[in-house]
Amino acid sequence: MTDIGHWINGKLVPGTSGRFTEVFNPATGEVQARVALATVAELNAAVADAAKAQVKWAATNPQRRARVMMAFGALINKNMEKLAEMVSREHGKTIPDARGDVQRGLEVIEVCMGAPALLKGEATDNAGPGIDIYSMRQALGVVAGITPFNFPAMIPLWKMGPALSSGNAMILKPSERTPSTSIFLAQLLQEAGLPDGVLQVVNGDKETVDAILDNETIQAVGFVGSTPIAQYIYGRAAANGKRAQCFGGAKNHMIIMPDADLDKAADALVGAGYGAAGERCMAISVAVPVGEKTADALVAKLLPRIEKLKVGPYTAGEDVDFGPVITKASADRIKGLIASGVEQGADLVVDGRNISIQGYEKGFYVGPSLFDRVETNMEIYKQEIFGPVLSVVRRGTYEEALSLVIDNEYGNGTAIFTADGDTARDFASRVNVGMVGINFPIPVPLSYYTFGGWKKSAFGDLNQYGPDAFRFYTKTKTVTARWFSGIKEGASLNFKALD
Ligand code: NAD
Repeated sequence: MTDIGHWINGKLVPGTSGRFTEVFNPATGEVQARVALATVAELNAAVADAAKAQVKWAATNPQRRARVMMAFGALINKNMEKLAEMVSREHGKTIPDARGDVQRGLEVIEVCMGAPALLKGEATDNAGPGIDIYSMRQALGVVAGITPFNFPAMIPLWKMGPALSSGNAMILKPSERTPSTSIFLAQLLQEAGLPDGVLQVVNGDKETVDAILDNETIQAVGFVGSTPIAQYIYGRAAANGKRAQCFGGAKNHMIIMPDADLDKAADALVGAGYGAAGERCMAISVAVPVGEKTADALVAKLLPRIEKLKVGPYTAGEDVDFGPVITKASADRIKGLIASGVEQGADLVVDGRNISIQGYEKGFYVGPSLFDRVETNMEIYKQEIFGPVLSVVRRGTYEEALSLVIDNEYGNGTAIFTADGDTARDFASRVNVGMVGINFPIPVPLSYYTFGGWKKSAFGDLNQYGPDAFRFYTKTKTVTARWFSGIKEGASLNFKALD
């Protein structure tokens, strides 16, 4: 049994709390490690050291900091297979999907190689006689990232890249279910030239998170996880005077118009609904076909595709479509929700509850499941299932389908499949969701845009990565400067225009 500790001041250190939680291999169902859960004292000590290291790091010129990102990017590429295997071993996703997890994080590091350009301020010369105004973006100090289990590489990289390249030190608290990747990434950053103490990986649970929220040195918290925890963290961080951006859960709908290419829509739904066992905040969990004819045809096209899906361990090779879910509790919860859908009257077209993988009987598997004729008052519609379960909610018209999306409390991602540009434009313009796909099921923006949902999918301000992240991790200072040229005015007590 391996013990996973923390990464503090450039070294692996064991936890001192005596508290641990088990880290599973979801593919086999076996415990593969224990991860230490930090105390308040351990967290506070890591922050104090980070604060010292941050002063020098912030004073390092931005281009030198960017070069650390360049070297880091190269090391991520070099270690791609090792990282992907590490992700799969603790998460359960397939190796090709795990490579994508690393890749979409790496792309944010690539943008951070250009951080000096993103950190530039603004300037106005001659804002008044002999007066110049300029602004600068300065690092906040020590910031924190708290990340979920479902993207063990990507989301920590989304947090580290912009925060560190802006000159901050960071306390990263990864998910206790998938802690190893963050520690390995921190080791790669050290190899890339990041000074010790600038990135501290502190493992833990609620006790550690609360210590982060109450620590007076930490200036900002970037959180990603479920909605109730996002809302809690946002409230407590803000009450303690911190900046907070907290990204939560989702219920993403895809509208399928009668004029859509139904083969392409069905392929997209299978990928977006069942990929990574549905454990993606951008998974499509609700298909909304418009018209009974479209709905019948869509379900008929989905069925053979779903029946062909192969579920299995990541070690079984590239022909496995998706792996297990994260824990046994999660598998049981998903199966319970499927049972509730049946009880509440939805048509269970494909039932994934009774899956068993030979040789991996203890793994946390749930097979692909499909519900038709789901209604909005059913638990399977109301809850974020976060498993391989797709619900079909039929609607008669485009306006009814659009209202369904607008009325849903979540607003992370959504998509429309149609052949009509006017309908697509109308949808993109009116829908109250942060990321919209047009004939594109998982519209995760590229790293030079930004990522963020609306409604209960995000609390706080500014999105993750892209220019928004550099605004979040820096504060603006504006300087008004006058250089006297021998003509000195008397002091003026009035607050006045600079003319
Ligand atoms: P989670 O909310 O259980 O955990 C996220 C983090 O919060 C972890 O680091 C965990 O240790 C910590 N945490 C858990 N309970 C806590 C508590 N009571 N108090 C303080 N901290 C606590 O989420 P998860 O199960 O790891 O991840 C899945 C969720 O994340 C899904 O809801 C998914 O939609 C969401 N997610 C959202 C995005 C996004 O960008 N919007 C991206 C990925 C995942």
